[in-house]
Amino acid sequence: MKALYGEAVLLPDGWTEGARIDIDGDGNIAAITVGGASDGAERARGPIVPGLPNLHSHAFQRAMAGLTERRGAAGRDSFWTWREVMYGFVARLNPATLQAIATQLYVEMLEAGYTAVAEFHYLHHGPDGVPYADPAELSNRVIAAAATAGIGITHLPVLYAHGGFGGQPPTAGQRRFVNDGDRFLRLVEELRGRHHGFHDVRIGIAPHSLRAVNPRLLADVHDALNRSDATAPIHIHIAEQTREVDECLAWSGTRPVAWLLANAPVDRRWCLVHATHMTEAETRGLAATGAVAGLCPTTEANLGDGLFPLEPYLIDDGLVGVGSDSHISVSPVEELRWLEYGQRLAKRARNVASTPKASHVGAGLYRRALVGGAHACARPIGAIAPGHRADLVVLDAEHPLLVGRSGDTLLDAWVFAGNAPVVRDVMVGGTWVVRRGRHARRDEARADFARAINTLMD
Ligand SMILES: [Zn+2]
Repeated sequence: MKALYGEAVLLPDGWTEGARIDIDGDGNIAAITVGGASDGAERARGPIVPGLPNLHSHAFQRAMAGLTERRGAAGRDSFWTWREVMYGFVARLNPATLQAIATQLYVEMLEAGYTAVAEFHYLHHGPDGVPYADPAELSNRVIAAAATAGIGITHLPVLYAHGGFGGQPPTAGQRRFVNDGDRFLRLVEELRGRHHGFHDVRIGIAPHSLRAVNPRLLADVHDALNRSDATAPIHIHIAEQTREVDECLAWSGTRPVAWLLANAPVDRRWCLVHATHMTEAETRGLAATGAVAGLCPTTEANLGDGLFPLEPYLIDDGLVGVGSDSHISVSPVEELRWLEYGQRLAKRARNVASTPKASHVGAGLYRRALVGGAHACARPIGAIAPGHRADLVVLDAEHPLLVGRSGDTLLDAWVFAGNAPVVRDVMVGGTWVVRRGRHARRDEARADFARAINTLMD
């Protein structure tokens, strides 16, 4: 057992002054005692908040950050031209470089205040599309990176079968991603077996998108997963681009979110990543399912996706969480900030995500992203409460930005004005991984990452 005492702690029902957090040997919160004695407990050097789950990550893309911000030869750049560059990059990755990139990324996530990640993992095979001797090689590299960095992971092997709507064959650039249903399910079972019983690893699945799976395959995989783990999370990319909406309409006569809601048993287990382009009926329908909308505002801005209909979705009590997706930014507060800023720019108004009950925008979005992120990761995280993992962030009480601020105003200050330097200490599963803003393995992760990048850029 270990114990932590905080002068200010964000509990599920609000801020409390003076609370003791007892943590058991497995890294779970055993008890919270408000007003409890600090004897024998470590005193936190600032306010304690639950670490934020990052619900959408493609780890390897961190190594591309900044490489696609110049005009391409083909004229007008778009998501689709970016994707061609990304495919070229994918072709050069090997197991060791992937692991080095993921380790560095996860170290950065922890230093920024993310304590868990849902890794939407679609890179499965060698450069020629032939599976590795161990078909789970690349999944295991990513999970090993999470263990090295000390971040909780929900690993989502991706089912990718087609190159476009209507069962189009995959392109050469997609061959490292492709599995049929049987090979995919064997991969999922192998991963479930290997990582069973580990507190900080959870296995789910991710049908890549309606472009990459067909209705029959989606249903078969869902049924097979139900037989082995009826609570495993299911994530899918959806309605990110208007071209995707147009192609879905041409294929099925229905828009992507409407199609999914009508043809798949979407419920609390699901996370619909992006869901950018929705009608009012789709927005209301998604909110009613209890599924999470997985929003990635910095990547969505970077790729020119569009804006999620946040205001009506929140009015309908839809669940949201945030992810850093392509990792053009690795900062939970920048995602939350841009979730609100996109709306302000579009509506020429302020405090769009506030409600009569939750007037603080930054604090309100942080709380929503804790709930939605935990839900999407399908792990007991996102709250400082007994039975949850001890995934905690201690903010730097001495940082100039936080001086004179407390409670929800302090969270607003972090979300809108602060970045990583406001994060002082980070604990995952009861173990300190970041102290005074530095991850314990920062130097070795950077050195391995630099070697990997030099190999890739050669
Ligand atoms: Zn994605």
